[in-house]
Amino acid sequence: MTRAFFSSTFALIFAAGLAATSAEAQLKVVTSTPDLSAIAAEVGGNKVTTRHVSEGYQDPHFVEAKPSFVLQLRNADVWAFVGLGLEVGWMPLLLDGARNPRIRPGATGYVDVSRSVRLLDIPAGDVDRSQGDVHPLGNPHYWLHPENGRRIARMFQQKFSELDPKNAASYAANERAFETRLDAAERGWRPSLSMIAGKPVAAWHTSWRYFADYTKMNIVGFMEPKPGVPPSPAHLAGLIQTMKRTGAKIIIMEPFYSRKTADFVASKSGAKVLVLPPSVGGVRGVNDYVALMKSDIEKVAAALR
Ligand SMILES: [Zn+2]
Repeated sequence: MTRAFFSSTFALIFAAGLAATSAEAQLKVVTSTPDLSAIAAEVGGNKVTTRHVSEGYQDPHFVEAKPSFVLQLRNADVWAFVGLGLEVGWMPLLLDGARNPRIRPGATGYVDVSRSVRLLDIPAGDVDRSQGDVHPLGNPHYWLHPENGRRIARMFQQKFSELDPKNAASYAANERAFETRLDAAERGWRPSLSMIAGKPVAAWHTSWRYFADYTKMNIVGFMEPKPGVPPSPAHLAGLIQTMKRTGAKIIIMEPFYSRKTADFVASKSGAKVLVLPPSVGGVRGVNDYVALMKSDIEKVAAALR
């Protein structure tokens, strides 16, 4: 009896020790946004742990990074961020605080994801932040195009394989599974895409440029005169005219912008407001990348039907 008790206790302790060892062996991935961490989690599977700084219902331009993330970054093997200045307000402080050589600029674990994707709105001339443009280096909302979703997944596959070569086959299989799932989803939402293509719409922020590039919806105007600059009455008057002239039926906006202002423009232009999450976790039930794209595409199609 006693001996059996001791041996089973020992077995439990031994198993717990093994579990701890294998958990420690997992790559620790921290990302700035939930979209990057969702894709990293699919590619990493049970070989990585993921954390993200901003939540899907927050404005990614104005995140208040909690000090607790300094501790996350201190132990991280990978720090992946959107780039193009999106995290410039808080990232240097967090990285300095973390004092982790694995994720310093220039280190293998420091991953500027914007370098792996196809970008829109790259400024041709000198960068001018004085007028409040929050996209001075190009449009950072690139994950809202499935082709960039694939590129992000391939980038994580390469990075994880480089840092953890013994699990490279697993990362490759997971990445293939992600693309297969995305391919199948794309076939499923084809009828919705044909409903959206060519339709005039308005949007609050240029975050929907990549989504429009993919769905072929025609954004005839934005609520913001420049990305990040609040709408002025004169700008809105012009937008209302454009929407009437083109027959735009919806105003697409993220949950964190002013519903009241959008409702005003909608009432004057005969359109309706469509609140659309730009990120994984932005609304209940949208818990991975494919679900985000599917949900947004189907909501736009339904609103234009
Ligand atoms: Zn933006």
